[in-house]
Amino acid sequence: MTQFVWGYVREYENERDDILDAVDSVFRSGRLVLGPAVQGFEREFADYHGVAHAVGVDNGTNAIVLGLRALGVGAGDEVITVSNTAAPTVLAIDAVGATPVFVDVVEETYLMDVGQVEEAITERTKCLLPVHLYGQCADLTALSAVATRHGLPILEDCAQAHGARQHGRIAGSVGKAAAFSFYPTKVLGAYGDGGATITDDPEVDAKLRRLRYYGMEDVYHVVETPGHNSRLDEVQAEILRRKLKRLDGYLERRREIAARYADALAGTDLVLPATAEGNDHVYYVHVVRHPRRDDVLAALKEHDVTLNISYPWPVHLQRGFAHLAYGRGSLPVTEKLAGEIFSLPMYASFAPEEQEKFIDVLRGVLARV
Ligand SMILES: *Cc1c(COP(=O)(O)O)cnc(C)c1O
Repeated sequence: MTQFVWGYVREYENERDDILDAVDSVFRSGRLVLGPAVQGFEREFADYHGVAHAVGVDNGTNAIVLGLRALGVGAGDEVITVSNTAAPTVLAIDAVGATPVFVDVVEETYLMDVGQVEEAITERTKCLLPVHLYGQCADLTALSAVATRHGLPILEDCAQAHGARQHGRIAGSVGKAAAFSFYPTKVLGAYGDGGATITDDPEVDAKLRRLRYYGMEDVYHVVETPGHNSRLDEVQAEILRRKLKRLDGYLERRREIAARYADALAGTDLVLPATAEGNDHVYYVHVVRHPRRDDVLAALKEHDVTLNISYPWPVHLQRGFAHLAYGRGSLPVTEKLAGEIFSLPMYASFAPEEQEKFIDVLRGVLARV
């Protein structure tokens, strides 16, 4: 059976000249750190989201860490989020000394069950941190109403939702601030690590800029601690500028791939992705469910096809988070999903003929398990 070529290697084949030109232009510019490429990317990324400010940082985890700190979240505070996410969402809360408080997710969409948020608020709650998981937004209308009632800021985790929209509003433009990752596989990916935090608030922006630069205001003058070195570098920023121009094209291609899956896999035992009302999904991960998930994955492996599970262990059940003391059964929907979900190949550079080959193999396997 053919081994499929997935991911950035195929993209690089398609975009090689432009990527190499971006790298070369930076290397020849004489500026490798916080120069014109980062400035240009920050301007263009903010404009794409219709917000005033974007601050480039070194990765998505630190985009959340700095976002939380810029919103004044620290030791002893509580942040309400989900366990059904990539662990870095929760690691970032932990890194600022705050306590993550989990609510469960909606079974059909895998997103934060906003109906549970109000009950989870205490006098220590400092921030609401929804995750726009797999490429679509958590219910920001309902969450904004809760946030307003309680005077709490929203920090959106947009690491999986570049370009996603809800009732026309782009992900990252609704909360007080929003954090993005440019990890290579993300919808907008760098050729290495990168991230950004965006905001409309000039004070939050100023704080983010200090935090990513040793806590300095002027060069060589630290005005607050702890300072971080969390800069986005010029090479990644220049590559991201080039790729940002193609982002809408990537989204279109991802939606075509999802539509083809929907068509080809209707009538099988797979539960296909459900899009919440008002959402434009960007399919960062194309997550499906099957009651005998492990049998399906084992059978696919016999055809040399290895698929991912995003994510096999809910955060609250991972060993490193035992101190949070959420036992098994505490978040029933999240726990149930973890046993049934897996991800179909989804990359903007996934060629139609490769997708057809994959669908043939998958349909064959589904007919037999
Ligand atoms: C990828 C991701 C992050 C972390 O981004 P890095 O750039 O890998 O640090 C955070 N949250 C979510 C939901 C992610 O998918």
